[in-house]
Amino acid sequence: MGIPWYQLEAEQVVQHFKTDASTGLKQNEASRRLQSGVNELAERASKSEWQIIWEQLTASTVVILLVAALVSAFLGDYKDTVAILAIVVLSVGIGFNQEYRTLQALAALKKLAVPKVRVLREGQCQELGARELVPGDIILLEAGNSVPADSRLLESVNLRVAESALTGEATAIDKHTRALGDGELPLGDRVNMVYMGTTVIYGRGRAVVTETGMNTELGNIADLVQTVEQQATPLQKRLDQLSQKLIVASLILVGLIFVLGLLRGENLRVMFLTGVSVAVAVVPEGLPAIVTIALAIGAQRMLKQHALIRKLPAVETLGCVSVICFDKTGTLTENLMTVTVLDVAGRKFNLEKSPIDQKEVSLNLLLAASALCNDAIETLGDPTEVALVVAANRLGLHKRNLEKTFPRIAEVPFDSDRKRMTTIHYRPKQGEHEGYLAPSPLSYLSPSSYIAFTKGSVGSLLDASIQVWVNDHAETLEQNWRDRIINANNQLAQTGIRVLGVAFQQWEALPEIINIDSIEKNLVFIGLVGMIDPLRAEVKQSVEICTVAGIRLIMITGDHPLIAQHIAQELGITSNTSLLTGFDLNQLQAKELIDRVKSVSVYARVSPQQKLRIVEALQQQGQIVAMTGDGVNDAPALRKADIGVAMGVMGSDVAKEAADMVLLDDNFATIVAAVKEGRVIYDNIRKSIKYLLSSNSGEICVMLLAPFLGMPLPLLPIQILWINLMTDGLPALALSVEPAEQNTMNRPPHSQKDNIFGWEMVLEIICIGLILGLLCLGIGYWFWQIDREANWQTMLFTVLTFSEIAIALALRSERNSLFEIGLFSNPQLLAAVVLTFGLQLAVIYVPFLEDVFQTKPLSLCDLALSIVVSTIVFWFIELKKLIVRRLFAQATQNGISRGDDKSRSSP
Ligand code: ADP
Ligand code: MG
Repeated sequence: MGIPWYQLEAEQVVQHFKTDASTGLKQNEASRRLQSGVNELAERASKSEWQIIWEQLTASTVVILLVAALVSAFLGDYKDTVAILAIVVLSVGIGFNQEYRTLQALAALKKLAVPKVRVLREGQCQELGARELVPGDIILLEAGNSVPADSRLLESVNLRVAESALTGEATAIDKHTRALGDGELPLGDRVNMVYMGTTVIYGRGRAVVTETGMNTELGNIADLVQTVEQQATPLQKRLDQLSQKLIVASLILVGLIFVLGLLRGENLRVMFLTGVSVAVAVVPEGLPAIVTIALAIGAQRMLKQHALIRKLPAVETLGCVSVICFDKTGTLTENLMTVTVLDVAGRKFNLEKSPIDQKEVSLNLLLAASALCNDAIETLGDPTEVALVVAANRLGLHKRNLEKTFPRIAEVPFDSDRKRMTTIHYRPKQGEHEGYLAPSPLSYLSPSSYIAFTKGSVGSLLDASIQVWVNDHAETLEQNWRDRIINANNQLAQTGIRVLGVAFQQWEALPEIINIDSIEKNLVFIGLVGMIDPLRAEVKQSVEICTVAGIRLIMITGDHPLIAQHIAQELGITSNTSLLTGFDLNQLQAKELIDRVKSVSVYARVSPQQKLRIVEALQQQGQIVAMTGDGVNDAPALRKADIGVAMGVMGSDVAKEAADMVLLDDNFATIVAAVKEGRVIYDNIRKSIKYLLSSNSGEICVMLLAPFLGMPLPLLPIQILWINLMTDGLPALALSVEPAEQNTMNRPPHSQKDNIFGWEMVLEIICIGLILGLLCLGIGYWFWQIDREANWQTMLFTVLTFSEIAIALALRSERNSLFEIGLFSNPQLLAAVVLTFGLQLAVIYVPFLEDVFQTKPLSLCDLALSIVVSTIVFWFIELKKLIVRRLFAQATQNGISRGDDKSRSSP
């Protein structure tokens, strides 16, 4: 057991770690300490190589094959045994390779999800990756952070921490800094400590790191935490169900083939192996692996576009997103706020046009208040607050100096429900601290011991104000003043300017309890600060993409209705600009809301709880909802949404943990890019499934129908296994990395309900399977009729393999012909095709393999014939695509001539 830090005074802990509470460690000291271990939980190897191999070996199909090999050996058929074992080795090899790559891709994604921490080093506040923390580091915590290491608190301003991850205790704990006496205390009672893995949900604090990495409390139980199984994605679950059905079906078919064979007088041993081979061929054992690897590859592709996937199912769901709800700040804008307008007592100052008068009393007061009631540190922090600090600098009001003169002694933090925050400062007597600021921006105020500054949305400030500051004195806030302020606010908001109000209040003695009710009342309104935040250049284009792609966009913001509307118009979310405010929303019943969300596209002055209601209402309507968020309170809405999207730069750790996807660049366009990737992956998985199942049904068709033509077994067990290995392996995998189709973003989203196997797909699979099967049987029958001893089996076998190669090529696109997309646009598939083709030639012409596969060399003429015949299914699929294209073109033509607007109707 380590030292019980909670029993010591904060200074003792600081001394113990040879650090400094106000400047932190020296950089080189920190680097030195880092050598004794980074701050991360030792990853228990998710799965060892042996484990993967073991899982591969115990997969049901492999077990069946192993049994078959054993039985063959027992019956003295050593050639078959060796061949089957070779097949097992190959398929385990392929499976291992897939699984290994997938796991590595996932591990790489996990590494990227490490949170950032604010640390004091050499007197500077820096942002570091949590891994780099060392004992003795001084860290700064604020609402939304997840605590990066076990630490003793040095400062707590209303700090409240949720520790359920460690203690199971649901309610958040209030933290303070006092030493806690001599007794041993359980974790939950050590209220002057914060622990790794817990989250700050309110307030602010400073702490000295005491333990990192595996030495933390979380490290002690890390083994428990890591045993959480990775969940199967909905698609994987559906595939499992499908596999089960196919297994039952295959048993029936195998039974049929077996019985038919025996009736024809085939040898029991041959029929046994045939049965096993068909069973192995029918079960698409490659499918789950292909889906997982497709999803993992999708996640990697999304990462390249700055979308970090935190939960694998998100990749699949993204392809089905039908509504994107975004909160305005940051995602749409550059997040570079600049103060452009100041408005005090009815006088407006445009900072872009003219330099401001440094001596203007009320401007000095306004900006000093904005810089003091502010949590930004230099240029780190909320862009809104950074903008205020920068603006105050221009008047010579440097935040650092202001804070030295008027030290902050208490505060009521910002929350997006009341939309304002207050800080309380000590006010020195005239003459004290003269050095920092002269003249004082507060010199016109009557003397008082304390002064409180409040800033926030104008409406919320006016509610709490009773006076207004005019030039150099306070006046009663009469109705005409209120009207003037509201008008000024509206005018600014209309032009897309974000406005904050600022107010103050003086105290001789502070109330005993400092909270919203005791502090935020009887304020003196100072004025308005207006700032612009230009829209990102690429956002408009993304909005257009969404319109074409049938994705509805909904803007949800805590900001003023007018600015919301302004931006909605600027972006072209014009179809329904009817607007709902949080206030109106509260008046609606859940049922009414479900109705309203159909048409409302802009929500303003909305609180996080209301975001949750909006998401729920949309989901009730059957929409698949993506929702952005950044704050602590956004977590429930992010969890509820089908795709919770957190901001990577400005977002809180809490939001990130609740999210399915994190935008590393906080950019709206990134969501759209991810949706596109999601659709591509969804398409590709469909293609792989279609390919695998249609090939399988072709094989079954051949095996099942041959006896009715009076033919002997058309394919030998080893040949069936070979075809199955080739197709389940390379081409199906290569289909899953197919690049985007041309129309990926010109069509409505896939509906998640009618799932990946719609009747259309089933029909197509059956058709392809039937044609493939009949074709092979036909050619086999023809050659069999000519010469029963010669190469009819080899011919059938070869046509089947070549046809499947051709099918893979044809299925690359669901709409466009292979000639449009080009042979070379999927090099992996091309390589798989060439390789499979080459291997098949080897199987026919290499004497040793001929022996194993019991093939006979085809004459050049027969080979040419087999190649030609093998393209028939290819042409059939291409023809189907051509018809679909024609029909679609006609449909859109009609649509346009009728002038209806498809994007308007909800899907
Ligand atoms: P949004 O990000 O959509 O603007 P928020 O919930 O973050 O919504 O903010 C709601 C409102 O709260 C803002 O419109 C603004 O008036 C006010 N506000 C935002 N940030 C701050 C802040 N740091 N201090 C004071 N008020 C703020
Ligand atoms: Mg915000």
